[in-house]
Amino acid sequence: MSVIAFAKNWDGKFKKSTYELVSYAKDLASRLNTQTLILSIGEVEETELEKLAQYGADKIISVEDSRLNILSSRIYAEVISQVVNKEEASLVVLSDNNSGKAISPRLSVKLQAGLAAAVLDVPKSLDPFIVKKQVFSGKAFAFVQIDSDKKILTLSKNSFGIKENVVSVNIEKFSPELSDDIFKIKVRSTESAENKVILADADIVVSAGRGMKSADNWQPVEDLASALGAATACSRPVSDDGWRGHEEHVGQTGKVVAPNLYFAVGISGAIQHVAGISRSKCIVAINTDPEAPIFSVADYGVVGDAMSVLPKLTSIINSGE
Ligand SMILES: Cc1cc2nc3c(=O)[nH]c(=O)nc-3n(C[C@H](O)[C@H](O)[C@H](O)COP(=O)(O)OP(=O)(O)OC[C@H]3O[C@@H](n4cnc5c(N)ncnc54)[C@H](O)[C@@H]3O)c2cc1C
Repeated sequence: MSVIAFAKNWDGKFKKSTYELVSYAKDLASRLNTQTLILSIGEVEETELEKLAQYGADKIISVEDSRLNILSSRIYAEVISQVVNKEEASLVVLSDNNSGKAISPRLSVKLQAGLAAAVLDVPKSLDPFIVKKQVFSGKAFAFVQIDSDKKILTLSKNSFGIKENVVSVNIEKFSPELSDDIFKIKVRSTESAENKVILADADIVVSAGRGMKSADNWQPVEDLASALGAATACSRPVSDDGWRGHEEHVGQTGKVVAPNLYFAVGISGAIQHVAGISRSKCIVAINTDPEAPIFSVADYGVVGDAMSVLPKLTSIINSGE
């Protein structure tokens, strides 16, 4: 009857989104009057696992198998389903990131569990079980009722927040039964472009639009992103014109992001762009036009020329002032 949260790690480390997921699982478990179990897969140091206890986990289950250090949605779904069955858990929560999106449908089939993706809040009702989720790139909400015994939710980033709830925790090791067959297709290694932060998982995003005037003017955007350890992104016309790759395009027809900090530089703030950034915690707009619609959704705004504002900002950040 417990709630299990799948805590994905990135090279053995957890991120703020993991702590948000654990906080959410704890809240759900309290409402259901049951335990919060956290499942970590792959090699993670004990001190890192213990950090999860700050957000209310009752038990941490660690599957430390070096064959599982690289995420495979097929194998991870098998491991999670074995833990769910062993613990007789009724609710599994995952982050609505790339891995959560890849694992949750497979898990749903394995466990015959109803799945609600991109959930935004605690359930509106527990019986019947109804959750609020976003649809149409965040332009509308749907309230979804799940009637299956086992249920799976993926939690949208920045929709619940991090809530500290320090407890002493028990770390338990678990060895799943995995046949050689399941490893017949495996990821041997992964490589990422050097110094590139992945947009979907980034805590800070520096995004620029047609106001940059040309592909040749992107250096100040790259410099600010590098000073902040941020991912770069762009508006749709920028990728349509080939100034940047389509993998950076944010909005209704591109990626939906929810970083803690989003810079919109030379971006007008069209509704189709805002659809992809509205769950960002803090939006900073830099635009020459004080009437640009982006200022109505921004938390902070600078009216000015990006080509002079960006280098000044980067130099202040690099100087550590
Ligand atoms: C069906 C549909 C789907 C769409 N999907 C998307 C989507 O997913 N994502 C998306 O982004 N768009 C999308 N669009 C396009 C969207 O409507 C806008 O046209 C687009 O977002 C505008 O991009 P932009 O803000 O970069 O350019 P512009 O609208 O041209 O704005 C440029 C901004 O830069 C400012 N500026 C100019 N010079 C400077 C300077 N030197 N310094 C600072 N600021 C400056 C200007 O004041 C202006 O506000 C879609 C459109 C449709 C019809």
